[in-house]
Amino acid sequence: MEALTALQKRLQQAHDLNMAMSLLGWDQQVNMPPGGAEHRASQLATLSRLQHELFTAEETGRLLEAAEAAADGLHYESDEASLLRVARHDYDLATRVPTDLVAELTRVTALAHEKWAAARANDDYAAFKPWLQQIVDLSLQVAEALGYEDRVYDALLDQYEPGMKTATVARLFNELKEVQIPLIRAIAEQAGAIDNSILTRDYDAQRQEQFSLEVARQLGYDFERGRLDVAVHPFTTNFGTNDVRITTRYERNWLPAALFGTIHEAGHAMYEQGSGASIAGTMLEGGTSLGIHESQSRLWENLVGRSRAFWTYYFPRLQALFPETLDGIDLETFYRAINRVQPSLIRVEADEVTYNMHIIIRFELENDLLEGRLSVDDAPEAWNAKYEEYLGLRPPTDREGILQDIHWSGGMIGYFPTYSLGNLMSVPFFDKAVAAHPNIPDEIAQGRFDTLLNWLQAHIYQHGRKYMPAELFQKVTGEIMSAGPYLAYLQEKYGEIYDL
Ligand code: ZN
Repeated sequence: MEALTALQKRLQQAHDLNMAMSLLGWDQQVNMPPGGAEHRASQLATLSRLQHELFTAEETGRLLEAAEAAADGLHYESDEASLLRVARHDYDLATRVPTDLVAELTRVTALAHEKWAAARANDDYAAFKPWLQQIVDLSLQVAEALGYEDRVYDALLDQYEPGMKTATVARLFNELKEVQIPLIRAIAEQAGAIDNSILTRDYDAQRQEQFSLEVARQLGYDFERGRLDVAVHPFTTNFGTNDVRITTRYERNWLPAALFGTIHEAGHAMYEQGSGASIAGTMLEGGTSLGIHESQSRLWENLVGRSRAFWTYYFPRLQALFPETLDGIDLETFYRAINRVQPSLIRVEADEVTYNMHIIIRFELENDLLEGRLSVDDAPEAWNAKYEEYLGLRPPTDREGILQDIHWSGGMIGYFPTYSLGNLMSVPFFDKAVAAHPNIPDEIAQGRFDTLLNWLQAHIYQHGRKYMPAELFQKVTGEIMSAGPYLAYLQEKYGEIYDL
């Protein structure tokens, strides 16, 4: 076991470097004065290079092989055996792509990001097009280096959702389309049924902060091991299980931004804070995939935060904080306002019913681009045609169309499906918790969340990265992932709200 001890020490150092980079990144988005950008880029590049050299060194591979050879007696679920599996997965990913290709991708995406930001500001797709072409080409090279059996997309998707296959995602997404497209059309016919203008009234930012802090604390986000700050693009970051930070943003005339943004990030953060004590501070801590992570943020944001039970408790509190603004508004009006469905062009503003359509469009276009069915020349038109088909809207500009997201300019092809996979998994996870503790909805209506949190902690959070996403899903729910539970949830909730 000498090899294992030496390997643990080495992995620990690599993990510490990753956490230090996270801290610099957090500071950059929360505190850093604009003048610091160049220093910070250099500091991050240095740490990133040191981390990569340490982790991908031949010595790491040798220690890993030696530890694996001696691991026969280890129980599959033990910290040691799990560490070896996760280290092997990450090591293979990090070493299969040639250093030159990694460097080229870093160079191109750094430039592409600036070209994209300018192209979006000027609504000028032609300026971004050659960069998108380069990113598609480089992504194909990365996929070849990583290897795949069936679809080229498998290799890219696997970086964000280990073990997930393109064919599985396509099957799930087709199930979603069959039900969600008619549901969206039926709701669109009732477009005037709900007025959400109360959410655009004037909400003092300080009082919004007070409310956000109260909600996050009561949900179970631990402020002894976390903090809430303001950032332009809200995110969660961790420097270890015992220091997990969230950010939000307060908009005076759009209450949902901070309200649901904070609950969403607290959901991510409670997952991270919940890693078992024996894996805290090691590379096993944190979330196992982006999809599972999103299932937790969505569970808290939507299944808890947008439920009638939740607002039965919180609406009187919100009203007390904003007496002039919410005077004379009843719970039902508020509940319907926060659940209003409105097909829109912009993904990040989408509601629960339309959100998946935005993701499906990106997933289908990414595959068409990678597999040569679509050229970057024709991509904007393909984008617009799909918006028309799935959401009944045609983007009038590329800025509100294909140029809206940052992901492609950052080389993140294969990332988008994890958002919808998170939605899909959130419902069976929540259903399972309620089946075990049928009092959970009643507790939510009393502002109590500990039974739900403890269940999630015991069944999901404590494991950190020990299990692959599909493995964890099956372990928790006893089932293979399907779209059924999520669709049933949408039909029941919105059938009632829109009287369908
Ligand atoms: Zn999220």
